[in-house]
Amino acid sequence: MGVLRFSFGTMGSGKSTLALQIHHNLRSCGQRGLLLTRLDRDGAQVSSRLGVSAAAIDVQPDDDLFELVRSHRPLDYLVCDEAQFYSAGQVDQLARAVDELGIDVFAFGLITDFRGLLFEGTKRLLEMADEKVAMQVEARCWCGARAISNARLVNGHIVYEGDVVVVGDTATEEVTASPLFGDAVTYELLCRRHYLAGATWPGR
Ligand SMILES: [Zn+2]
Repeated sequence: MGVLRFSFGTMGSGKSTLALQIHHNLRSCGQRGLLLTRLDRDGAQVSSRLGVSAAAIDVQPDDDLFELVRSHRPLDYLVCDEAQFYSAGQVDQLARAVDELGIDVFAFGLITDFRGLLFEGTKRLLEMADEKVAMQVEARCWCGARAISNARLVNGHIVYEGDVVVVGDTATEEVTASPLFGDAVTYELLCRRHYLAGATWPGR
């Protein structure tokens, strides 16, 4: 019996690092698995901010993940980074691979986007996963409180609307279009109070 486990947290909570660690550990004990990502900072690989990286399959929007698993059999597990960017349908395909093909799926993702709303893949994973695990490394706001938001700043000012996926400094989010071309898009971890107040780091 396979298991679908979803580990979630803010940016800076060590998701990619843990994804790489699990992949390494399982492979070391002879298990056969694949590392998947979507829109990683550095392309078709999973990269940790701590400097570790590994080649990965870059999942495309119309990829059928059940078929991907089936075509790579025999397979024991999948490690899926950036799973917040998967579609709800792709999450269902992962669940089906667990149930029908008996593999384990370890998915990692951000909880909410810059608007404070659940990402599509995250929402579906919270609905479908057998195990839901909150990452234990807590990212912090500039004030020292626990960060709950990955706020988007355009030219230094916090914004609450816009396309969900836009490339930016320190972001795991990447480009699909350039509606903000010419503007500087950055992201900043904020606690709830400072996110709602729009109060970014005062040293800016
Ligand atoms: Zn704060």
